[in-house]
Amino acid sequence: MGHELAGEVIALGEGADRSWAGRTVAVNPVISCRTCRFCLSGARNLCRRKGLIGIARPGGFAEMVAVPAANLIGLPDGTDPRLGAFVEPMANGVHAARLAIDGNDSAGAAGIAGVTAAVIGAGAIGLCCAQALRLSGAGPVDVVEPDERRRGVAARSGVTRTHRSPDSLRDALGIGDQPRLDEDSGADVVIDAVGTAQTRQLAVDAVRPHGRVVLIGMHEDESPLAFRPVVRDEVTLVGSYAYTDQDFSQAARWVAAGDAGPGELEPVHPLTQGPALLALIASGTAGPVRAFLGRA
Ligand SMILES: [Zn+2]
Repeated sequence: MGHELAGEVIALGEGADRSWAGRTVAVNPVISCRTCRFCLSGARNLCRRKGLIGIARPGGFAEMVAVPAANLIGLPDGTDPRLGAFVEPMANGVHAARLAIDGNDSAGAAGIAGVTAAVIGAGAIGLCCAQALRLSGAGPVDVVEPDERRRGVAARSGVTRTHRSPDSLRDALGIGDQPRLDEDSGADVVIDAVGTAQTRQLAVDAVRPHGRVVLIGMHEDESPLAFRPVVRDEVTLVGSYAYTDQDFSQAARWVAAGDAGPGELEPVHPLTQGPALLALIASGTAGPVRAFLGRA
C-alpha cells in the first residue's frame, strides 16, 4: 500500500533539521498526535488519532513523498533502498517478538536463551517475527509453513527447524492430541502470523502452560477458539499491532548491520508496473511473494 518505503531526502520543509539533506532514510509511516497518553508513553501505534503514510496519506508508490522529519530513520550512506523498505515489516516482527518475550517467566535463570518459540506462517511478517526472535536470543525457533519456497527462505534466515504441517510442529514440540499433558511439551511463546481459526487454535495448542501467544495475523476477524484450555493453563493471549519507535529503530539497526534482511533482493520495477504487480500478487500463488517499486 506504499507504507513500506525508503529513499533519499531531496528537499526540506521549513524548520526541518538541515542535516537530513541528502541522507538515505527509512520512513516510519505511523503519524500520530504525539500528545495523548499512548503517544507520550511511547506507544504511538495505539494513538486514537493515528494514520499511516501510504494509507491515510499519500505513500511510497510515487517518486516523491512528503513525510514529517520526526518519522525519518537515518540509514548508513549507500544502503540499498530495498533494505530500507524492509525496516517497516521487520519492525512488526521486532514488536511481536518483544511482546512474546517480555514478561515471559521462562526467561528465568537461563535468560532469553532459555525461551523456546514457534512461529505459525512464514510469509513476510512471519519471517520477520522469526528473525526477531532469533536476534533477541530466543531458541530454538520452530516455523510451520505449507509453502516450500517460503520454508526455504525461513531455513536460510536462521530458523532452527521448519515444518511443512501442523502435525510436524506438534511432534517437534511433544504435543499429542491433548496439548500440555506432558509438562515438557509446548513452546514458551508462539506467534500466529496468519490469523485463521486453524492457526489461532494451533497457537494455543502449541504453547506450554503459562505461556504467551502473540496474535499478529489478521486474516479472519472472528474465529472459534477452545477457551477452557486457555483458562485452565493460564495461557496469555496478546495482540500485536505495528510497532513503537523503539522497535522501528531496533529493526533499522539490525537491517543496517546485515543481521536481519529480506533475503535475495528482487529487481526494482518501475512505478507504472505497480497495478499489474499488485493484481498478480492478489491473485494468489502464481505471483511473487513481494515486489519492489521505484525509480528503476
Ligand atoms: Zn496520540
